[in-house]
Formats: sequence, C-alpha cells, structure tokens
Amino acid sequence: MKTHPHNYENKSLCALCKGSCCKALPGQYAPSDFKEPITYEFAKGLLLGGKHAIDWFEDDNDILYLRPRTIHGGMIDPSWGGRCIHHDLETGCELTDDVRPLQCRMLKPGGVIGSLKCTAPSEFNKENMAKMWLEHQTILKELRRELYED
Ligand code: SF4
Ligand code: SF4
Repeated sequence: MKTHPHNYENKSLCALCKGSCCKALPGQYAPSDFKEPITYEFAKGLLLGGKHAIDWFEDDNDILYLRPRTIHGGMIDPSWGGRCIHHDLETGCELTDDVRPLQCRMLKPGGVIGSLKCTAPSEFNKENMAKMWLEHQTILKELRRELYED
C-alpha cells in the first residue's frame, strides 16, 4: 500500500492563498483522527459541542461521516459549501496538525497564482473518505435521526 506523510502542509503557499479550500468547504475526518473509539456517546458529544457535523456521500444508501461544521451550518448538514468553523481569515486553520482532519492534511497545495492546483490523492476523495466510516453507520444514522433540525 502506498504511504503518505502525516500532512502535505506548505505554509508559504497557503499563506498566499489565505485558505480558499477552507472557505469553500471543511475537509472530512477519518475515524482514526479521534483519540477515542467512535461510540454513540462520543459522537453525540462531538456534535453537541458545536464544532462537528454529520454530512454524507449521497448514494443509494448514503454513507455518513463527520467533518467540522461550517460557520452557518448545523450539526446535521448535507449542504455543499460554507466556510469551515476552524478557519480564521487572517491566520488560517486554528487546529494543530495532530487534530486536523485527515482530508485536510492530505490536500497537496499546488500553486495559487492565478489558478488553484491543490489536489488530494484519490484515496482521500469524498467517497473514499466516507467509506472509512462504514463500520460506524448505525451510530451516525441514529444520531442523524435524533438530532436533525428542520
Ligand atoms: S491547500 Fe490550496 S486552496 Fe487550501 S489554503 Fe493551501 S493553497 Fe489555498
Ligand atoms: S479543519 Fe482547518 S484545514 Fe480543514 S477545512 Fe477547516 S480550517 Fe481548513
């Protein structure tokens, strides 16, 4: 299996860009980003804490996952777009590298003058990141039903 560094951070490129990716949509967490097992109580605590949201990859059978909330988004939020709650317009991401979502860490800054060329390896695209949560679908679907706000 191909291995990847812990992140592809390039602070000088990202400082020029000031976080176009973070202003567009938060990256996705993997279960391994959390220091505790993904139990119902743990996931519910994250959601009620105000900084995490359930989103999903739309399929015949949606695949739910966790990501940071957007500034105006709720805790159950399949909408596309919105600035990540962890993004500061002046200083960028407020999270330290050890708690930043895997998909954010796997985005390779590629150039910011004129056009953005930032890409992540395909194993970290939306569908494949969502599939990392397959064994936790029962918990996430129960929380989606319980916490959904119209
Ligand atoms: S990863 Fe790309 S889009 Fe995101 S802040 Fe860095 S240069 Fe900008
Ligand atoms: S967690 Fe940090 S790097 Fe990821 S989208 Fe939010 S502000 Fe950007």
